[in-house]
Amino acid sequence: MAVIGIDLGGTKTAGIVLNGESIVARDRTDTDASSQESVLSCLLEMGARMREAAERLGLSVNALGLGIAGFIDFERGVVTEAPNHPLKDARVKDILEAETGLAVFVDNDANMAALAEARMGAGKGSRYLVHLTLGTGIGGGIIIDGRVYRGAQGAAAELGHMIVLEDGPLCNCGARGCLEALSSGVAIYRRVEEAAAAGRASPALEEFLADPLAFSAEALGRHADAGDGLAREIFQAAGHHLGTGIASLVNVFNPDVVTLSGGLLGCLHHMEEAMLRSFRETAIAISRDHVRILRSTLGDDVGALGAALLARESLS
Ligand SMILES: [Zn+2]
Repeated sequence: MAVIGIDLGGTKTAGIVLNGESIVARDRTDTDASSQESVLSCLLEMGARMREAAERLGLSVNALGLGIAGFIDFERGVVTEAPNHPLKDARVKDILEAETGLAVFVDNDANMAALAEARMGAGKGSRYLVHLTLGTGIGGGIIIDGRVYRGAQGAAAELGHMIVLEDGPLCNCGARGCLEALSSGVAIYRRVEEAAAAGRASPALEEFLADPLAFSAEALGRHADAGDGLAREIFQAAGHHLGTGIASLVNVFNPDVVTLSGGLLGCLHHMEEAMLRSFRETAIAISRDHVRILRSTLGDDVGALGAALLARESLS
């Protein structure tokens, strides 16, 4: 029996069909987040396309898993907060079940990434895993004894909002010094702006000042590769705080594996030395010497794959 996994992102929606250990179909589409109805129809269309793809392969589908950025009441399948979608208070599980006739399970997207890593990714076989998605923001998921940890209200594992620098820069959540405010794509961009305001000179700044739209972490990474000292400094600062954050997580959870995914992975080599240094300096030895810090091996499939696994495991 095959299952469908869908990862609803702010700009892209990804769908897969999982049969056994194999992804047998996949699709991506732009997310139309203009209204609650448009997001729901985007999900239903993706679900229908994946079901057709499965049926063309002679597979019947019995469940659909869905990962969404935001706070999710897993039992009810209701989105309680969604920063990137107009889905607040939407009864997503009920609506999709009524429309598709499938069993539907809804969870936070970073929780789904953590589940995928623990079952089929870099952390395959691990029972205790902490996952960080490093992108524009920073998301997190925690696997404890093989299961997703959701907390009392489905609001757990907001690892990007762990405070790593008291009185540090302001975060989107309103607090100061969150990991997201120091090590995310947004944080890296803020450091570029601060360097420009301070009159620093570097090839990267020259490019971004001439064309602000040219900025991306990858573009800054290319400057770092080419020897731009400021670009390297910015990545190392982000890496330093990331290492501190990972050390705190390792001290709290004593995981087998910490997995990292997201758009910043391509720049991780610029951050890695500072990350590992601060991690080693601050993690407790017994946990530090056990844990492995690994890059995701699942690429763009990670969220949808985790959602499919959630659906399969929730049924059994
Ligand atoms: Zn925050």
